[in-house]
Amino acid sequence: MEAIYLDHAATTPMSEEVKETVCREADAYFGNPSSIHSFGRRARKLLDEARKVIAASIHASDREIIFTSGGTEADNMALIGTALARRHEGRHIITTAQEHHAVLHAAEHLEKQGFDVTYLPVYENGKISPADLNAALRPDTIVVSVMFANNETGVIQPIAEIAALLRDHPAYFHTDAVQAFGSIDMDVRQLGVDLLSVSGHKINGPKGIGFLYAAQHVKLEPLLFGGEQERKRRSGTENTTGAAGLVTAVKHAAEKRQARAEAYGSYKEAFLNELKAENVAFSVNGLLEETIPSTVNLSFPGTHVEQLLMNFDLAGVAAASGSACTAGSHEPSHVLVAMYGKEDTRTMNSVRFSFGILNTLEQSQEAARRIAKIIKRLV
Ligand code: PLP
Repeated sequence: MEAIYLDHAATTPMSEEVKETVCREADAYFGNPSSIHSFGRRARKLLDEARKVIAASIHASDREIIFTSGGTEADNMALIGTALARRHEGRHIITTAQEHHAVLHAAEHLEKQGFDVTYLPVYENGKISPADLNAALRPDTIVVSVMFANNETGVIQPIAEIAALLRDHPAYFHTDAVQAFGSIDMDVRQLGVDLLSVSGHKINGPKGIGFLYAAQHVKLEPLLFGGEQERKRRSGTENTTGAAGLVTAVKHAAEKRQARAEAYGSYKEAFLNELKAENVAFSVNGLLEETIPSTVNLSFPGTHVEQLLMNFDLAGVAAASGSACTAGSHEPSHVLVAMYGKEDTRTMNSVRFSFGILNTLEQSQEAARRIAKIIKRLV
């Protein structure tokens, strides 16, 4: 039985081109970019060029790109780095109840340091409301962090409206674009964001590398101390091999964006159509029309997420939930709880399916047929 991977939102495999780049450049550019000899200079050149290409992909300048170990570090730096740098201007932060834990736990950490955090509510359509943000804004708000697309539902958030609201407010606007970057073309100037996080392994790049865009005017305190790399903002010998892989992934994300979006969107549609044809009872969590092409989150009434994921896995279908499983207890997904409330059964019977380069149309239909068989057995 062929295993079908429908969990590209968790991580993606490196593309062949990325693998080739990583292997090639690991040999040719192994020097430390801080070394002054030819090996170091070659590595520095690679890093500088990677930074330029990445900056150009979001219409930023290369001075505005900070390489990080991935999305988590970029999010932590965006929140904690700016909060510490601006703590004398204000102590209020706004984010949303459905952010990734890389943002939520960073915000909770800041609360313990005396910052005041407002968590905006999420509606049943999976979106936050700019009006709620407007009402929460205060003169002492220093940073607003709203994700571009949610990692569990795939729902795209009203980033342009939020940026417009913040245009005349001194708060920085950070967006966690980890899930959206592969699907949506981004121009940071046009978007009006001050900070933006991206992760390599979600776009068929390597794990352990990502970047934070921080506009030139953004004040950031470093979280890591040491050799003062990355213009004193992020100490530690740079991950040159990772950067080489990341830049290849970023180039491909741009070149293949349209084709990938169409392909992944068609897999998702075929998958949903097959489930319907099989008469499976399900509902979509969040506004389907406003999701990124790769992701959909479905609720199967009368089932339980743990039971679903186990049976899907046995049938060779890899999918995921946002719930945390620890020692037999199942915490409901904080995203679905934010959308529906704690008591709603959808928080405990929902699964995320996410499509990507490992899939085909036929596979997506085959996965739906295997799932249909399981659901019919369970309900
Ligand atoms: N933000 C979002 C929206 C994510 O989906 C993820 C990963 O799942 C992260 C941040 C963390 O990224 P990384 O795994 O690169 O640390």
